[in-house]
Amino acid sequence: MPHPAPLYRNHVLLLSQSFFIKDNRAELLLHAHKYDFDILFFDDVSRFVDAVAHDGGDNLYVIDLDALHNLQADMPDGRRTLLLGELLQRLPGDHSYIYLQSARQGSRFMLQQRLVDSHCLAYAEKPIANDVLVDKLFKLFVQKKRGDPVRMVVLGDAVLDDAALLARGVEVLRHQDAQTLHLRVKELEPDLVLITDTEYGRTDAIVRVLQKNIEADPVREIALLQCRPDPALTRRALADGFDMVLANCEADLLAAQLVGRADKIRINKDLIGKDRATGLLNKVGLQKKAQGLIRRAAQEGRPLALGVIDIDKFKTINDTWGHHFGDIVIKRLSLSLSTQLGEHDLLSRFGGEEFVMVFWDCTREEGRRRLDALRQAFGAIPFEVGPGELRQFSFSGGVAAYPEYRSENELFLRADAMLYVAKQGGRNRICAEETALALA
Ligand code: GH3
Ligand code: MG
Ligand code: MG
Repeated sequence: MPHPAPLYRNHVLLLSQSFFIKDNRAELLLHAHKYDFDILFFDDVSRFVDAVAHDGGDNLYVIDLDALHNLQADMPDGRRTLLLGELLQRLPGDHSYIYLQSARQGSRFMLQQRLVDSHCLAYAEKPIANDVLVDKLFKLFVQKKRGDPVRMVVLGDAVLDDAALLARGVEVLRHQDAQTLHLRVKELEPDLVLITDTEYGRTDAIVRVLQKNIEADPVREIALLQCRPDPALTRRALADGFDMVLANCEADLLAAQLVGRADKIRINKDLIGKDRATGLLNKVGLQKKAQGLIRRAAQEGRPLALGVIDIDKFKTINDTWGHHFGDIVIKRLSLSLSTQLGEHDLLSRFGGEEFVMVFWDCTREEGRRRLDALRQAFGAIPFEVGPGELRQFSFSGGVAAYPEYRSENELFLRADAMLYVAKQGGRNRICAEETALALA
């Protein structure tokens, strides 16, 4: 049997000897698993340093500074306390670290300064609740990985190095006509809109037209690029709904500001549009991406198939083997699905144990076949529910296709109705329109 993919995508290596975490290890782990990462505990400095040195760098490294005071027989001279400087020296310098310190340590500015200058990714003060720590670590994971480029539409003449910006994760698209900017924004759905002061001076309604659209993306930012200082204009711009004002300085400085903004926007989008436990799109993220895909399908004249699946008798799984085991089933399903989808397909955890996917360039019948293949693959996964005791589980699914159903909402409702038919028909099966009729 092929080796299964690791259950959690990310790892935290945690050096801690302190009581604050020890008692709560299991709870801390449960929280972490909900956010799609696992924690490896170390209570020995050398072993921790070794593990970090051999790590690829995708993980997070957390050091509880109390580990300094509580060493086993680690020091050659028999000391039981390591000086902070000694620890910092031993840490591989090509990684950065998250330090957990006590309030007393935090109150010493010299120590703080020392820490933030010592390959510090972040620091936190203890005591810190398990769920809070996990939430912060999750945000650092999101921050660390570079996701999709952030898209920016520029109105007016701004001197920017488009290629350099793209290399740093900002895609620049230019538009010249203020009166059609809102249409372009609707079409391209940029994350950032940059408008020069000249254009704003000419057509000041543009920003209101963008902001007051009820469908406007709440994460989108609209920035004024100000070439000449003009406090009166800045004041008006802010009152009109600009989110920020950038001074038109040298191209590299402007680029640095835009890249910084883009990084924040990317994190916000990720936090809003993704499911933490699986890293897949959530309902919000899927709806947005599916609408984009439907527009593309319309332009290119291609079909799409949307599938909805729901694990069978999941309540019984939870009740029999516990909620945590239920979570693991969800996690394994998400891994099984994601490895079998194409790069243009969409996959989301829509809610609890329900997933939605969109197959690009795929008819209803092909969609039904592909979903059925996913069903068989999941059904073949052996879950160890007890020592040596294996069980298999199943899901049911429904399919609907574009262009028969034209909007994301219609597709979902139709596929969901087909899912209902599959459940009624005995579960562990996929239904699409004709199969539904055949069963009726
Ligand atoms: P059916 O075959 O008809 O779908 O039966 P079911 O038992 O799966 O019924 P239903 O879909 O209504 O039950 C879903 C259950 O999933 C209810 C809820 O307690 C549980 N659930 C929802 N989200 C999670 C989660 O994130 N983790 C776990 N462990 N359980 C969850
Ligand atoms: Mg359900
Ligand atoms: Mg169910």
